[in-house]
Amino acid sequence: MPEVAKRVKNLPPYLFARIEKLIEEKKAAGVDVISLGIGDPDEPTPEHIREEVRKQLEVPENHRYPTSRGLLSFRQAVARYYARRFGVELDPEREVVTLIGSKEGIAHIAWCYLDPGDVALVPDPGYPVYAGGTILAGGEPYYLPLLPENGFLPRLEDVPTEVARRAKILFLNYPNNPTAAVAAPSFFAEVVAFAKEFDLLVCHDAAYVEVAFDGYRPPSFLATPGAKEVGIEFGSLSKPYNMTGWRLGWAAGKEEAVEVLGRLKSNIDSGVFQPIQYAGIKALDGPQECVKEMNALYKVRRDLAVAAFREMGWKIDPPKATFYLWLPVPSGFTSESFAEYLVEEAGVVVTPGTGYGRHGEGFFRVSLTLPTERLQEALVRMKRVLGKVSF
Ligand SMILES: *Cc1c(COP(=O)(O)O)cnc(C)c1O
Repeated sequence: MPEVAKRVKNLPPYLFARIEKLIEEKKAAGVDVISLGIGDPDEPTPEHIREEVRKQLEVPENHRYPTSRGLLSFRQAVARYYARRFGVELDPEREVVTLIGSKEGIAHIAWCYLDPGDVALVPDPGYPVYAGGTILAGGEPYYLPLLPENGFLPRLEDVPTEVARRAKILFLNYPNNPTAAVAAPSFFAEVVAFAKEFDLLVCHDAAYVEVAFDGYRPPSFLATPGAKEVGIEFGSLSKPYNMTGWRLGWAAGKEEAVEVLGRLKSNIDSGVFQPIQYAGIKALDGPQECVKEMNALYKVRRDLAVAAFREMGWKIDPPKATFYLWLPVPSGFTSESFAEYLVEEAGVVVTPGTGYGRHGEGFFRVSLTLPTERLQEALVRMKRVLGKVSF
């Protein structure tokens, strides 16, 4: 066999082999393992959205190749959503491109702007695709630490000037996976100024912008004055509408970046199956009660998880958005040893923070995307094995 390309060999190593082996052993031994590790909504896609795909499946034109940039009608629905929700005006023809899930676009935007040796600024901890896409394009991630003392926002003023000058892309993600942190419009204003100063493309991942609680409505980066001159935002149907398996998202914002992404994609993929795009239109234009109901359900789970962790000794505030809790590991543990301990002793899986980057060390992520009774059972087991923890 020929040598595997460096771009693949340079991808970060897979960290979870050991813990996965442990999980398999436990399952084989008959343990009922409960996973708090997976960020994938457990409830089904709402019925009115499923109904639309069934209807569109019967339309023969929908069986043919879609266009790679996406149905104009879907892009118009995205523009209507931005106008309604954020007061942001978008030209659906030139400022929106359909994606096969936002993950696809996040990986490909790196190919659009990074030549070998170019730098992308990547949050750490962060969704692994920012670094992965950068490395596959031959670029170099420069990691921006997201630390609790800074509210898990990167300190842009700490990026060395030579690095900022070499960088072409700045990846950001608020509400944030894995930290559940949120960003205020004033932070986004700083980002726009920084991007202008160093001629960067801001790539804001807004996957969780609709998953929020207690009346909080997360802002769009594109609503920041000047944002459309320096950035694009990745949107996704996956999290608000329980559509992770459908593969539908978009990129919107700066016209040139949207055009380049569409051009690159037209050489790689042939777009999203049209019935799925029609279902996406239904999701965006249709009743939003389903989103409110999901958020109400996540809030119930969040509150019972926060209460249980507080009883065990964690000092935490309930997150305002996302379906994650990002918690410090008790003293005496690393991220990995804590995750392994919980599998071994409680049959409970959490994600070690190091899976999201070096600065995830000392933390673990809990996902609320499992039936409430299962979450409760997992928390009971954790209390049993941990008792009171200290830090
Ligand atoms: C789930 C998630 C996405 C969404 O990915 P899709 O490809 O649209 O399903 C994007 N970014 C982050 C941070 C996520 O957690």
